[in-house]
Amino acid sequence: MLRPPTCPMPTPVTRFAPSPTGYLHLGHAHSALFAWNAARAAGGRFLLRVEDIDPNRCRLEYEQALLEDLAWLGLSWPQPVRRQSDHMDDYAAALARLAALGVTYPCFCSRKDIADEIARAGAAPHLLAAGPDGPLYPGLCRRLDPGQAADRVAAGEPHAIRLDVAKALALTGPLFWHDRGCGQVTADPALLGDVVLARRDVRTAYHLAVTVDDALQGVTLVTRGEDLFHATHIHRLIQALLDLPTPDYHHHGLLVNQQGQRLSKRDGAKALRALRAEGLEPAAVWRLAGVPAEKQPC
Ligand code: GLU
Repeated sequence: MLRPPTCPMPTPVTRFAPSPTGYLHLGHAHSALFAWNAARAAGGRFLLRVEDIDPNRCRLEYEQALLEDLAWLGLSWPQPVRRQSDHMDDYAAALARLAALGVTYPCFCSRKDIADEIARAGAAPHLLAAGPDGPLYPGLCRRLDPGQAADRVAAGEPHAIRLDVAKALALTGPLFWHDRGCGQVTADPALLGDVVLARRDVRTAYHLAVTVDDALQGVTLVTRGEDLFHATHIHRLIQALLDLPTPDYHHHGLLVNQQGQRLSKRDGAKALRALRAEGLEPAAVWRLAGVPAEKQPC
């Protein structure tokens, strides 16, 4: 008798991708366990990636500590761990492809230039596009003459590289992703404006590096905090431009303190190692970092 072909469900590859800018706290443990559980529950794989592109904020001491803390929690991951600072060539190649598509431009603006322009436009608020984190880049360098901009780059003037989101969207057309919490989401990359793809001082930036890495590492399910939900709109656009596969996403809720504020290093969230020094066992940290009732960001 003929049987219908069976289509095995692909097993997910998830990742936890911390930046070593401080010691991990319960919020990180929550995120790491969320990715770990999502992989383990479906017989998949969990990867760890160290997002250390910012030499001013990342420290080896924090990197060593996070490896130790996650192992103490009972997590394991394939070796070698991908450290972003070891893979600048991959980001440079991706940036060159985007430049060849004509969807990038050099930006010579300092923070002050941008703040001044925003203040000026503030007098005419209808001209000021706002994103989820405040006013968007007002597009000063997008309007430069390309020949003059190229001369300034050739002369060695410090510059970042930005994505021209409108041009990019004209190439890709409408985009979507599947979010395990929200269902099908229509990407709206203009939400974050012309984001920086390469900083002045580091020739990549978060949005580019994370999108390239998730594809190169074969990540099929990106789990991360709902605070990064807006970033996914841009990542989906970069995937389309670079012909990269689109993983599934699941943006989880964030752990909050008793005042309802998100846990953060800055506000003194206790490091996992401090909890450990107080005698807490990994199982107790698992319980404390348990998945809270889901509130979807969409
Ligand atoms: N490195 C980012 C952070 O520590 C997370 C990146 C991501 O999960 O996409 O916030």
